[in-house]
Parts: sequence; structure tokens; C-alpha cells
Amino acid sequence: MPSSKTIIVGAGIGGLAAALALLRAGHRVRVIERSAALGEVGAGLSITPNASKALSYLGLAGELSRIGSTPTAGSLRHYRTGEDLVRLPQDRSRERYGYPLYHVHRADLHQVLLSAVTALDVDSVVTSEEFVDFKEDHDGVSVHCSSGWSENADYVIGADGIHSRVREQLFGPDQPNFTGYVAWRGLIPGDRVPPGLLDPPLCMTLGPRRMLMRYPLRRGSWINFVAIAKRDAWMEEGWSVRSTLDELLIEFADFEPRALDLLSLTSSDRLYKWGLFDRDPLPSWTQGRVTLLGDAAHAMPPFTGQGAVMALEDAAVLGRAAQARGAEDLFLKRYESERIGRVTDALAMSRARADLYFGDEPAEQVKALTAGMMELRTLYDYDAAAVDFDML
Ligand SMILES: Cc1cc2nc3c(=O)[nH]c(=O)nc-3n(C[C@H](O)[C@H](O)[C@H](O)COP(=O)(O)OP(=O)(O)OC[C@H]3O[C@@H](n4cnc5c(N)ncnc54)[C@H](O)[C@@H]3O)c2cc1C
Repeated sequence: MPSSKTIIVGAGIGGLAAALALLRAGHRVRVIERSAALGEVGAGLSITPNASKALSYLGLAGELSRIGSTPTAGSLRHYRTGEDLVRLPQDRSRERYGYPLYHVHRADLHQVLLSAVTALDVDSVVTSEEFVDFKEDHDGVSVHCSSGWSENADYVIGADGIHSRVREQLFGPDQPNFTGYVAWRGLIPGDRVPPGLLDPPLCMTLGPRRMLMRYPLRRGSWINFVAIAKRDAWMEEGWSVRSTLDELLIEFADFEPRALDLLSLTSSDRLYKWGLFDRDPLPSWTQGRVTLLGDAAHAMPPFTGQGAVMALEDAAVLGRAAQARGAEDLFLKRYESERIGRVTDALAMSRARADLYFGDEPAEQVKALTAGMMELRTLYDYDAAAVDFDML
């Protein structure tokens, strides 16, 4: 009997990780992606130890240590005086959790996942195909794209991001919530930055209702930054738009000179502005043979840096569920039952942090951040690879 076939909608980090997990579990997989070219808008991503565990389960521990950098020293800095309010020691995640924390370039992680998927099945990813809808009957489910292309499968996974069409077909339309924050993300070539602006290598500068974080990527050849500010509304077309350097410099004009000197080195073609949105949690992700994964299931604000991390955990648990003994058609429900509580807690934690981190007074922000770091440890303890459905 041929193995089960799963169609995954969306070749982002979540969709590709899910494809890899299912291929490794023996499924046949097709990933459909609407973009013509596969890739990611460049920016940094924190791969916390819980995501390192998931990637290790997917066979990518070596690749992760090749593309990632573990933070050395860091600081929490006062926006106006430039004083380092707290010095952060070298990251100790490997000792605490058994797995390191890495900063990676999103495009590098995406490429590693894509190479691993196509190494197992060279034809598994199809580009320039936009999912329109699915139809399910007793024997399976068929997926239809705007080009007229369609394909049958046993299961479908919507990994099509915060504006997921699979989610809409499953559960009806709902609006994403604007969190009240916008983020600029940029990359600066490391050789353009005077060393004095990079001491210590990781720095979070805290100002009233604003925050600037920077860290090195690709062994210092790029400096990644994310700058977040509170706004009443998001007025732009689309949720990620190009921004001008002037707009960014005006928003952070009262920050100390080193912060502004660094931002001034950004070239506008590498500067994007994001409205930060989330979605209310769903009581269920699965109907029949179709489920959701990643931002399609649980878009969350980035204040705990866990959006892509949760998608990687989802993928590892999906792989574990597909390998479990017993009725195969229960595997989507098993996956959902393990994941839904975990990501709902992570979403609540991320939402709760926003106003704590973006208060008026840097000393208060430091207190909230330091307490928050302790709380984050409860997230990092989770091991998606250890979920054992045979024992449940
Ligand atoms: C400012 C900011 C900072 C962040 N920092 C972090 C961080 O440090 N750590 C972290 O873990 N997360 C972070 N995140 C969150 C993270 O970026 C997302 O959670 C993650 O990228 C979600 O991945 P995904 O694969 O679920 O969705 P996406 O990356 O959105 O991928 C969805 C894919 O589906 C495709 N698609 C959509 N619709 C269709 C269709 N109809 N047909 C076919 N294909 C379709 C899209 O083209 C895309 O390729 C951050 C987010 C922001 C905005």
C-alpha cells in the first residue's frame, strides 16, 4: 500500500519544516507556494533552545551550528545616557537546556530546510501555485490553485501564514489584531560599522515606548537590528512595507549617538517596516483531514521571539504524531491536542509583555525584561522531540 500523501500550503519556515518532518516519517509530501521564487525577506531570527531541539530532531543540528551565532556578551542600555543598565553574560543555554540559542539569518534557515526537503524528494516543492480552496470527501481531499492546477491527497496542512486562506476556509473570516506596535528590521554590512558601535555584540537600548535591539549574523558579516515603537494605528497597505531611513531616524531621534550612528548606516533598500499583528487563539485547528500550522494557526507578536520557533516545534510534533502507532487518521488530532495549549500559553505570554517592555521609564523596563527572561525559561524547557504519543 502506498504511504499517505500530505499537501502543505506555504513554503515558509513552518511549511518546509513540516514537509521535512513528514518526509522523514515516511509520508509523500507536496508543498505548494504562491511565490515564484523561494526565499525569505532577510532579517535575523532568534532560535531559542526549544527550537534548536526541534531542528535537531529534524536532523539539522550540524547545519544550525554552521549558520547560527550564539550571543556572547550583551547589555540593556539607557536610550538617552547610553549607560549600560545591565550587563548580560555569555549565553548559557547549552548548559541549561542541552541545546544552544542561536541567531540566524532567516534566509539561511529557509535554505537549510529547503535543501533538506529536496534532498529527500526533489519534486516535493512547487512554486507559482496559489492555493484557492480544498474539497474533502470520504476518500481524501483535493486542493485547487488559481492556475487551475489541482491535486489529491490524504491530508492537507495550511502553513500559509497570518493571512491563511486555509484557516479562512476551515473556520471563516476573522481579522488580525493590530498590537499597537510597529517594527523596523534592517541589516547593515558588518565591515561598515566602527567597532565602538558594536560593544557589546548584543545590545537592547530601551526608551519610552520604544526599543532598539541589535546583534551580529553570519559571524559578524551583517549586523541585524529590530527597532520597535508604539503607534495608534497601522495605516499602510500590506503588513510589511519598505521604509525610509528618515522616518526611522525621526522616530528614534532622542536616542543616544551610538544608536543613531548605527541606524544611519542602514541602506533604505534593506529597511522594512512591519505592522505587528496577532490573531485570537482558535479552540481547534483541525477539521477532518485538514489542519493548520505556524502563523496560520497561531500568529503571535514577536515580544518573546517565538513565532517561527513555535512553527518549528509544531513541525517536530507533527512528525512524532505521524510516526506514532495506532490509527493513522488520528495523527492530525494528536498533533493538535499536543500543540494547542502550548501555543495558546506562548501567545498569552507574548501579549502580556508588550506594555511591560514598552513602558515610560528604562529602569522599569529593565525590571520587566529581567523578570521576563526568567519566565521565558519555562518556554525553553519544552522538547518537541520527546513527545511520545505511544505512551499517551
Ligand atoms: C518584526 C518581527 C520579528 C520577529 N522575530 C522573530 C524571532 O526572533 N523569532 C521567531 O521565532 N519568530 C519571530 N517572528 C515571527 C516569525 O517571523 C513568524 O512567526 C514565522 O515566519 C511564521 O512562519 P510560517 O511559515 O508559519 O508563515 P510565513 O513565513 O508567513 O510563510 C507562509 C508562506 O505561505 C505562502 N502562502 C501564503 N498564502 C498562500 C496561498 N494562498 N497559496 C500558496 N502559498 C501561500 C507565503 O508566500 C509564505 O511563503 C518575528 C516576526 C516579526 C514581524
